[in-house]
Amino acid sequence: MRIGCPTEIKPQEYRVGLTPHAAREAVAHGHEVIVQAGAGIGAGFPDADYLAAGARLADTAEEVFAAADMIVKVKEPQAPERALLREGQVLFTYLHLAPDPDQTRDLLASGATCIAYETVTDRAGGLPLLAPMSEVAGKLAPQMGAWTLQKANGGRGVLMGGVPGVGPAEVLVIGGGVVGTHAARVAAGMGAEVTVVDRSLPRLRHLDEVFGGVFRTRYASTGNIAELAARADMIVGAVLIPGAAAPKLVSRGMLADLKPGAALVDVAIDQGGCFETSRPTTHDDPVYEVDGILHYCVANMPGAVARTSTIALGNATMPYMLALADRGWAQACAADPHLAAGLNVHAGRLTNEAVGQALGIEA
Ligand code: NAD
Repeated sequence: MRIGCPTEIKPQEYRVGLTPHAAREAVAHGHEVIVQAGAGIGAGFPDADYLAAGARLADTAEEVFAAADMIVKVKEPQAPERALLREGQVLFTYLHLAPDPDQTRDLLASGATCIAYETVTDRAGGLPLLAPMSEVAGKLAPQMGAWTLQKANGGRGVLMGGVPGVGPAEVLVIGGGVVGTHAARVAAGMGAEVTVVDRSLPRLRHLDEVFGGVFRTRYASTGNIAELAARADMIVGAVLIPGAAAPKLVSRGMLADLKPGAALVDVAIDQGGCFETSRPTTHDDPVYEVDGILHYCVANMPGAVARTSTIALGNATMPYMLALADRGWAQACAADPHLAAGLNVHAGRLTNEAVGQALGIEA
């Protein structure tokens, strides 16, 4: 199979879909790998590393898309990339279709087979291709929130860990999955007082057993969220209903009860966000204010630490990428129902039920 890897074109996105190590493995499996020149630079991988791995370089994205049977990327294809997809081509990348009807329409029209990293599952019920980026985004969230809390950046002017005689920041993490757990660990490590809320009691039990002394847990009822939000200096939004748009758990009306200058870090923004007032921002201009409350809503947070993220993502995607290349998408999905769960679009049809429900399209 010919595997193509174009340069990411989403603003401030420095990750790359294939590491030189992944390219080397694909070549060793007998595949041809075509990488756009310069695609790895942002993650610290020069073209020479891909050439040494046995890949060939192409000058433009057009050449990569034209040559490849399967495109491996990081972010959802942007409009100019969607125009390059063709019938029968496989696209393996993050898609996040639920909040994105324009992209969905274009992918349906392309006739391509689109497998979304974020809906591939594993035996434990987890999302193995979302998890590494969730680990990164979770660990970044308190770091970005702490920056947002600084006075010069418009925040409350509160130090996460406090100092002797001055209490620490209070942090509420909504959703105790991969993002939430990593965010809570880092926020607690910075010295903040952290509470994690979740709708899943088994999840809360697990967190309590493992992190009982590090942060507190509460059930994610509307009342608990309202009470804890009013006390918080920082709120991290980290909920996920796989494939569906994120539920809005902090309404605009609730902002009036929050502390002025509090920082909302909506990591779930890639699924539409869990604060009513969230809208996607970029690393260029990450923070905006609504009713005196600061919102950080960067949809591709891991791009800020592109090298760590690219290697972590590559470690997770490589076995699936090789299965798709070795067996073809149909056989690979038939052999592995967890990979099949990643299939979102095929030959002009939506194939993921949760995504279809979110978009009001039959799947
Ligand atoms: P996860 O499945 O590991 O965790 C989600 C948690 O949310 C689960 O524990 C679930 O029980 C909980 N939950 C669901 N509905 C809830 C509700 N109503 N109230 C409270 N908790 C609820 O998911 P994750 O990997 O932690 O991802 C969380 C979000 O972060 C996703 O939307 C993901 O796409 C996003 N994400 C964003 C970025 C970014 O750069 N912005 C990067 C990585 C992940």
